[in-house]
Amino acid sequence: MEESISQVSTLVAEEVSAEEQGAMPTSQSDLSIWYHSLYTDGIHPDARFPRDRYVRVLERLTPFLLDGEKPAKFEPSIEIHTPKPIQREHLLLAHDEDYVDRFLAGNLREKEIKRIGLTPWTDDMIQRTLLLMGGALEATENAIQFGGISANMAGGTHHAHRGFGSGYCVFNDLAVCALHALNNLNVGSVAVLDLDVHQGDGTATALQHVDEALTVSVHCAVNFPFRKSSSDHDLPIAADSGDMLYLEAVEEALDLCFDHQPELLLFQAGVDALATDALGKLNVSRLGMQRRNDMVFERAINANIPVVVFMGGGYAKPLIHTIDAFEDLFTQAARWANRQ
Ligand SMILES: [Zn+2]
Repeated sequence: MEESISQVSTLVAEEVSAEEQGAMPTSQSDLSIWYHSLYTDGIHPDARFPRDRYVRVLERLTPFLLDGEKPAKFEPSIEIHTPKPIQREHLLLAHDEDYVDRFLAGNLREKEIKRIGLTPWTDDMIQRTLLLMGGALEATENAIQFGGISANMAGGTHHAHRGFGSGYCVFNDLAVCALHALNNLNVGSVAVLDLDVHQGDGTATALQHVDEALTVSVHCAVNFPFRKSSSDHDLPIAADSGDMLYLEAVEEALDLCFDHQPELLLFQAGVDALATDALGKLNVSRLGMQRRNDMVFERAINANIPVVVFMGGGYAKPLIHTIDAFEDLFTQAARWANRQ
């Protein structure tokens, strides 16, 4: 009797797991992206930050999305996943307990909130931050489990330090994900490649004593932050450098990353080096940005290294140029993932 019950339960378990596998999105689409409507709606409409960029990029990706059983209209296919809020213990991998708990309780000082920006804050700011961090963490876990490329359609919050936030960044998703991979997911070495126009100062300080995590930042020498931190490798370039000098620095940064023999690449893919960006001063073209993305994905896919894409900055005026560049980023990622 016992045996037959256990046979039945095994059968049921097999059926369930086959069903689950059949419905498992990660095996069906080329690229998994984490996204939540609070990425946009959690920011106050009067904030200076262009909050619509998230929902507008999602609209651009719609023809590529798998819709249940229905195939996507265009190849390559993309699947959107809803993130779960990150756990406090994961935030503590890269942040001081005092800072984390005061943020979670809604008790940051006015000066601290001002340094982060995204003001006026909304009641949803805490949940938005937890979802954004959760999306990054799940994308990282997915990349490690399945290989290829995964993405979070927000974040790249590289200005957040261990004990304070800054420059639109509350917590540092790159540092948390690097430490989660190293401490909890059996990854031996991680490279953080930061190609945003601004230096990855918070990531550099959060990971400065972690030998297994290499930080490499290509940025404009005269852009924020004005007091730079020391990454393992900093490649500052002059204002108005344009495509050629930017791409030369990207090539050098990639060499440095792959010399480290990473088992995981975390890519801060900010597009604020664009010529039309209101904050960035590097004067890079849309084509130059596309070339950059191809260089990163080609190297990683050829070396069979999983990649997580963190969205990063983009503040073009008009905003459509930022939306174009992010559409390029995610569709290029899906194309390269399709080739693996
Ligand atoms: Zn930036």
